[in-house]
Amino acid sequence: MVDRAPVTAHVPAAHATAAAALGQRPAWRFHILVEIANFAALRRHLGCPRADLLVADVAARLAGVAPQTRITAVGRNLIEIAVEGDAHAEIDTLLDDLTLAGEKPFDLDGEPHDLSLLFGAASARIDQANDVSIVEEAEAALIEARAVDRTVMHDVTPSSAREARLLAVELGRAIEQDELLMVYQPKIHVRRQEINSAEALVRWRHPERGMVLPNDFIPAAEQAQIIDRMTLWTIAQVIRDQRTLRAAGHDLRIFINISGQLLADAAFVCAACDLVAESDAKLGFEVTETSVIRDPSSAIANLQRFADIGVTIAIDDYGAGLSSLAYLKQLPARELKIDKLFVTQLTSSNRDPLIVRSTIDLAHALEMEVVAEGVETHAALALLAVMGCDMVQGFLISRPIALEALIVFLRDDSHHQVPQDSRASFSRLATVWKRA
Ligand code: C2E
Ligand code: CA
Ligand code: CA
Repeated sequence: MVDRAPVTAHVPAAHATAAAALGQRPAWRFHILVEIANFAALRRHLGCPRADLLVADVAARLAGVAPQTRITAVGRNLIEIAVEGDAHAEIDTLLDDLTLAGEKPFDLDGEPHDLSLLFGAASARIDQANDVSIVEEAEAALIEARAVDRTVMHDVTPSSAREARLLAVELGRAIEQDELLMVYQPKIHVRRQEINSAEALVRWRHPERGMVLPNDFIPAAEQAQIIDRMTLWTIAQVIRDQRTLRAAGHDLRIFINISGQLLADAAFVCAACDLVAESDAKLGFEVTETSVIRDPSSAIANLQRFADIGVTIAIDDYGAGLSSLAYLKQLPARELKIDKLFVTQLTSSNRDPLIVRSTIDLAHALEMEVVAEGVETHAALALLAVMGCDMVQGFLISRPIALEALIVFLRDDSHHQVPQDSRASFSRLATVWKRA
């Protein structure tokens, strides 16, 4: 969430939209976030008092090219523009005009300075998106804009919003009617040649749609705020499944995916801590870095609460979103999971091995273990082993499987002796992947 700083709003309603002139409501609404990307550098150069006025300079400049908009400064380096329009194409023209306006140097105390403005925007049909969804979509677009260093526009499409609502209602029922289940994907420790943890992934056995994968319902569950209930269900289920595993002689730490928005949800954090604390479970939580960046202080405090009750924290999808070393250092995380995007292309791209290598070194410097996810080939596994990657997970070793299948997998695995020398250890890993 952004801080609401003193408003430098500039709202001259110079001309209204054509629809408004005819007494009709315009069809579209747009929301644009403008960030001064080089704010920190400018502040060093200009000093804090002058830097704090920059946002007003930018707002005034942008108001000049976007007269019928509502422009608000919402932070030291962030401006929000809300506008309505008759046609979707208007947002493209507006973004072009704003970009052009921002490219001219700004006269700051008699000196010309280049400000680097970054735009994240969202559009929606006027009746089909509420204030929150369009603002959140624009925030998501800005996060993406930072990663790709150019303007990003998202559409809040009415059909997807409606579909998400529908799915969320059904999901509520699914939780009650036992339609959800957990599958497990083992992680292998490369040096120790052991499977000592697994990731739990949710599935929805839908009566009409068949098996629904999480990417098709987690975003809806997050949007409809039902993700807290669903995640508490997953934690309770994993605790039950872990007991079954232990009874079968397998002591594995099981990692659960926790959506970013839950890290700022005090009620969820309390309920999750209660569930874990009153069980004998050995759990881990996988969280993405972006979830921490949204509200760092409460996310870090809550992660610490989980860590204090023995939950291992892993940073998921590292490298896929905004990577911020500043936060990484502050997190009570013991594992770093390199996003599968880098791992699947490890042996076919020139750049990715460098990224993976430096990520492994960075994680080790921060005393974290590294997990490579998405290991699909022998070549990738061999390269990761040479690079010093601690753990691997992926289709090569095993797809995510039901609890019963995991027990069979682990039982067969325990028949193999742990070899001492590294060549033998490769051949042992081979026995695992050939079976998968
Ligand atoms: P994730 O946490 O990055 O999980 C890894 C995804 O990669 C899983 O997809 C897994 O099946 C897939 N995968 C594993 N090995 C390989 C491989 O070698 N190659 C490729 N190409 N893919 C591989 P899945 O199960 O469909 O889950 C997708 C995402 O949904 C997860 O991504 C996670 O973000 C989310 N998710 C899954 N279960 C839960 C849950 O219980 N709660 C929450 N909040 N999110 C969940
Ligand atoms: Ca994960
Ligand atoms: Ca992941």
